[in-house]
Amino acid sequence: MDFFNYKNNELHCESVPASRIAAEVGTPVYVYSKATLLHHYRQVANAFKPLNPTICYSIKSCSNLHVCKLLIDAGCGMDVTSGGELFRALKAGCDPKKIIYAGVGKTDDEIRMAIDAGIAAFNIESEAEIENIDRIAGEMGKTAIGALRINPDVDPGHKTHAKTTTGKKENKFGVDIERAERVFEQYKTLKNLRIGGLHLHIGSPIYDIAPYVEAITKANALIDRLTKKGHKIEWLDMGGGFAVNYKHPMQALPVTEHAKALVPLLQGKPYKVALEPGRYIVGNAGIVLTRVLYRKQGGEKKFVIVDAGMNDLIRPTLYDAYHFIWPVKPADAKNVPAARDEDLVPADGETVDIVGPICESGDYLAKGRALPQTKRGDLLAVFTAGAYGFAMSSNYNNRPRAAEVLVDGDKFTVIRRRETYEDLVAPELI
Ligand SMILES: *Cc1c(COP(=O)(O)O)cnc(C)c1O
Repeated sequence: MDFFNYKNNELHCESVPASRIAAEVGTPVYVYSKATLLHHYRQVANAFKPLNPTICYSIKSCSNLHVCKLLIDAGCGMDVTSGGELFRALKAGCDPKKIIYAGVGKTDDEIRMAIDAGIAAFNIESEAEIENIDRIAGEMGKTAIGALRINPDVDPGHKTHAKTTTGKKENKFGVDIERAERVFEQYKTLKNLRIGGLHLHIGSPIYDIAPYVEAITKANALIDRLTKKGHKIEWLDMGGGFAVNYKHPMQALPVTEHAKALVPLLQGKPYKVALEPGRYIVGNAGIVLTRVLYRKQGGEKKFVIVDAGMNDLIRPTLYDAYHFIWPVKPADAKNVPAARDEDLVPADGETVDIVGPICESGDYLAKGRALPQTKRGDLLAVFTAGAYGFAMSSNYNNRPRAAEVLVDGDKFTVIRRRETYEDLVAPELI
């Protein structure tokens, strides 16, 4: 569910016509809907309310300070995966006690920075990392707190791309569940690190409930075994991964459905619960607006060349991801979409590749896509681009990164200005 709708034959974000934003801010531009963002955060919070969980937004999905601040003000904590993300979370005003830090390759400087900030917990991925955090905390004269990330070895389902599957044995994340007991035994009396929690994250996006049920059931069994051996598990962090609707309105389950299955598994336990949703909160809350630059024919293929490239949105080429793309103002009123659906057949449409300006064959937003007729200057909207969209953008081909805009009702604000050519070279020295 989101607040990007066609009204009077034209796409609006909340009450603002998308074309107005493009005219004033230029293209390509990321446009976020505040109402959509907060709706999804509250949906997660309400669905899991019986558990009174700690919700830590996965800042890597969309890390704009303004977006973070809105979520922090709504009560959300932050899940960070680097020193840079920790810096952002703190800069946005997040209470360090609501920050958790994950990642397989934390450097000594990053660990020091996090201990110094007083974060809630590290999500720890290996024995070597346990020893390192303990050592660094010792040198600082402090005690760090951590959760052990376990790898529950569950298959997240066929719809999850190999590059975003994280909870199988062959993935680099966490420690095998069989080894976890030994790790708790081995490290139960560390001087400067207290391992009080368990963490898991099985991948993203997850479209089914079963992988979560399987992973949490395994985690619960492990917690029982650990408790019998005298280890106190104070919290279980079940990670993120809830999917969103890319292809059609019923593609992803609402989080309420996940909660129906998961809350009973977690309720009444002697430990607290944490969640780390990213995509679910911000995925449908953002779109990209891009303008058609040229059209051309190559053999039998028709290309629509737009001003957004893989540097702006890399998901199609990195993950074979599907984004619904449609004209902001369809010339023919018959082409105002009733719903965003991959099977939508436009009236008098054509099949095209929608490509960017970058010197790579992988530079496309869509291939073989049925689209209404478009011409130079037309605006297209690329939907469900809020998560892992701007966050993964780059300056490749020396393209300044796009602007980001936040819409609130009938107003919009630039929350990141478009980069300039001077920005491109600013850190460089001759
Ligand atoms: C990326 C990530 C998340 C967030 O995943 P979403 O699919 O965006 O919800 C949560 N936890 C960890 C450890 C992650 O790496």
